Amino acid sequence: MSKVRIYTLAKDLGVENAKMLEILDGLGVSYKSVSSTIEEDTVELIKDILAAEAEGGAPAQADADTTPAAAPTEAPAQTTVQTAPQATEAAAQTGAAPVADQTEAPVSTEKEIPHRAPVVTIMGHVDHGKTSLLDYIRKTKVAAKEAGGITQHVGAFEAKTSKGKIVFIDTPGHEAFTTIRARGANVADIAIIVIAADDSLMPQTREAIAHAQAAKVPMIVAINKVDLPQADPERVKTDLTQLNLVPEEYGGDLVVVPVSAKTGEGVEDLLEYISLTAEIEDLRADPKGEFSGVVIEGKVDKQAGVLATVMVQEGTLHVSDFLVVGENYGKIKAMTDSNGARIKEAGPSTPVQILGFSEVPSSGEKVISAKNEHAAREVVAGRADVRRDEEDARDRRKGQRSLEDLL
Ligand code: GDP
Ligand code: MG
Repeated sequence: MSKVRIYTLAKDLGVENAKMLEILDGLGVSYKSVSSTIEEDTVELIKDILAAEAEGGAPAQADADTTPAAAPTEAPAQTTVQTAPQATEAAAQTGAAPVADQTEAPVSTEKEIPHRAPVVTIMGHVDHGKTSLLDYIRKTKVAAKEAGGITQHVGAFEAKTSKGKIVFIDTPGHEAFTTIRARGANVADIAIIVIAADDSLMPQTREAIAHAQAAKVPMIVAINKVDLPQADPERVKTDLTQLNLVPEEYGGDLVVVPVSAKTGEGVEDLLEYISLTAEIEDLRADPKGEFSGVVIEGKVDKQAGVLATVMVQEGTLHVSDFLVVGENYGKIKAMTDSNGARIKEAGPSTPVQILGFSEVPSSGEKVISAKNEHAAREVVAGRADVRRDEEDARDRRKGQRSLEDLL
């Protein structure tokens, strides 16, 4: 026996899966699920920990490590008692705040998870102006960096606005959104539904709305082409109301912004509403947390090789990090931002193009990092095991069924 699945071990040892995961967390062992496999050494450690717990009733050593958060909260409580007299003296001398403030101090020093930029996707019926709107925003809100540098298409770009950064996913709306969502990932925080003012709601508009609703992503409607003489934004609003989407000015809560991708009218308002929505959503991510991301696009470049655009969702990516996607892993050889500039690290809500995968990852695949190559291989091997088990089970079921059919 060299490796064992977590749930198998839990069953063998007569403990709950949750307990097993708690111990693994405490040991700093990474896993994907209870069907992940762990090393024999780890198994021995777990047995020791459980034995120690059963014996003394006192939590085992590793258990104390599982709750590092407990230390800071407990320590100040003790020191408060000890330092209280000194603090009172100090307060008496300076005539400053009473001791009570001291006990609250540790709470206020706790770091909040920082805000992150919203990730926006644009959807709508064909020819209603999705590409034009993105082009307008890109032209006016993305600083053309290195002179002469042609920005290569990476599937996303970052717009700088007076209210902060907004990340736009510019792979063809529906496909990007649906393939990513089909894999269980959610990249977009906000969906812009583009509706042409001379055409109103069309089949793909309804589809786009349904997608956003299914994903529980807040929607903003951009009524485009308001520069056209035949534009009828009121009709669009009435049609929306019939779908139970009531614009704010009709007493509902749907934000509707009239825009023109041709003249730029209303685009500033649209960006403002995006920032406002993001603020309400209170989007946060920890740049110091464990990295996780989603593939937006993967492709092969004749010269560079495999290129993948990845959206950083949590943590920070660094050049030389090991990444795992599905059953493949790679080491980041180089990273570029959406302007094509080389970067060494990338935090949350940053789309980056990564060179270093050997296989082309598909959009929507989740990306995690591994401590080193060995760890990356482990994760890949564990996933391959799980997949083979599932395939075997499926084959067995199939065999069973054909046998039943035969009888
Ligand atoms: P998409 O299929 O949704 O990406 O639509 P496009 O951006 O390709 O636009 C379709 C057509 O509508 C193009 O001919 C655009 O020039 C035109 N168009 C897009 N936005 C506007 C607009 O605001 N005003 C006018 N007059 N034409 C627009
Ligand atoms: Mg288009």
